[in-house]
Amino acid sequence: MGLIRFLLIVLGGWLVYTWFRKTLAGPSRRPVDHAEDDRIGRLVQDPQCGVYIDSREAVRRKVGGEDRFFCSTDCAEKYAAAYAAAHKAEGS
Ligand SMILES: [Zn+2]
Repeated sequence: MGLIRFLLIVLGGWLVYTWFRKTLAGPSRRPVDHAEDDRIGRLVQDPQCGVYIDSREAVRRKVGGEDRFFCSTDCAEKYAAAYAAAHKAEGS
């Protein structure tokens, strides 16, 4: 009888130990990963209408050699057209 009680105590202690390790050490052991921000996406501004959107959901378009983010293709078209018109006027 004494041996079974001893084993139960050891088993109980082991369960408590693993539970503590999972609940306490678990979240704090995760390092702060800044690279994760890029994977998740970041907030970018639509230069056409000024609205802020998630870079993953934004419409990406290269305008004037720079990647721009837009809330919609409509904004992208307008901005590209305005940029082209301004660039044309500057050049001539
Ligand atoms: Zn927009």
